[in-house]
Amino acid sequence: AVDRYSFPHLHPSSPTTSPSPSILEHALAASEEAGLPDIAVSPSQGKYLQLTARLARAKNILEVGTLGGYSTIWLATSTPNVKVTSVEVDAHHAEVARANIKNAGLEDRVEVRVGPGIEVLPRLVTEIEEGSRQRFQFVFIDADKENNWNYVDIAIGMCEPGACIIVDNVVQKGRLAKESDDPRIAGARRVVENIGKEDRLDGIVVQTVGEKSYDGFLLVIVK
Ligand code: SAM
Repeated sequence: AVDRYSFPHLHPSSPTTSPSPSILEHALAASEEAGLPDIAVSPSQGKYLQLTARLARAKNILEVGTLGGYSTIWLATSTPNVKVTSVEVDAHHAEVARANIKNAGLEDRVEVRVGPGIEVLPRLVTEIEEGSRQRFQFVFIDADKENNWNYVDIAIGMCEPGACIIVDNVVQKGRLAKESDDPRIAGARRVVENIGKEDRLDGIVVQTVGEKSYDGFLLVIVK
């Protein structure tokens, strides 16, 4: 109820609001029509990502887990000249995302790369080493939870100092606090436990209660 009350006030339908509420609604409706699951971030979480990317002064953003491009559209509107590289394993999801991103007029700012994150990210590392790609100032990880830590670990090598990394769904209705055989929980616990052991990282869990669920982000800064 709080999200549904506050969001339209904070992100109103006005000519200067970016992305426009109608573009966001179109992306969700087109994703549903194409049979994609309803697991995108909520509108308030999307805006949180957009504002955090702006705070990080991100010029280059990496996203792992595109789905229909809903969070991608939020990130691609954080500043006018931002570039987003979004990685998606499912070719159908990527196709729907590309159409939604085009409908939002953001196709020049977004590149969707198809493949498993664990294979695509090392290729991006090589592109950075070869000089054909710039380092990232912001990373959003929202894919297969089992690989959360692996994605953070690879991302560190692609980030500028001061970069922000956000990992979604680490709280999972409080299940994070208890050891579990569920690979999604184990993946969340592993990334939380490894942040404090890694000298190059500083992080905190930001719990969120919203219109979709009780969950939370892991917010990490690369030193
Ligand atoms: N970030 C999206 C949003 O908020 O609009 C939602 C992403 S959804 C929760 C997770 C996505 O990650 C799905 O589209 C799924 O196909 C993708 N995914 C799952 N395993 C993956 C992998 N190994 N590599 C890349 N993407 C993966």
